[in-house]
Amino acid sequence: MRYHNITKDDMLNGDGLRVVLWVAGCNHCCKNCQNPITWDPDGGLPFDEAAREELFEQLDKDYISGITFSGGDPLHPANRLDVRRLMAEIRERYPHKTIWLYTGDSWENILYYPLMKYVDVVVDGEYREELHDQKLLWKGSSNQRVIDVQRTLEKTDPLSPVLHCGDYEQAYIDVKKPENVRGCCD
Ligand code: SF4
Repeated sequence: MRYHNITKDDMLNGDGLRVVLWVAGCNHCCKNCQNPITWDPDGGLPFDEAAREELFEQLDKDYISGITFSGGDPLHPANRLDVRRLMAEIRERYPHKTIWLYTGDSWENILYYPLMKYVDVVVDGEYREELHDQKLLWKGSSNQRVIDVQRTLEKTDPLSPVLHCGDYEQAYIDVKKPENVRGCCD
């Protein structure tokens, strides 16, 4: 697996303050994607031991709520196995931290991937410019869904996802949540 960046104390890609791993590789080619530089699975840097330690150093901090996998697409075939292994290790070392995953793929295609057992929240679907709404929290266009993975997988019909509402009110309390920010369950 290769990656472009690791961002710290991020509050735009999930609940609380998070560390975000931006992987290389995406084949969704969404029109006006904000990160086309991440499409090439051979771009960026190798995800090596130093990068792994950089993530763990962040997850060791009490105030870090968890990790978000983004990109690129962490479920690109070039990434899937390494992402699964990394998630397994994180789940074991940090059982109380949350794992979020952004993907351009749809929930219906990915819900049975083995790595889903480690994931708390998936933001699914390709970015669709005509459905862009800057008031949306955690997603760029209204077709995307913020899914509570474990509650959905417990259902008899997991194809009908349970949405994750999250703690956005709390997250925005210090920055005076704008009146027009909409939660993911609105
Ligand atoms: S899935 Fe995300 S990274 Fe991939 S093309 Fe679409 S917006 Fe860009």
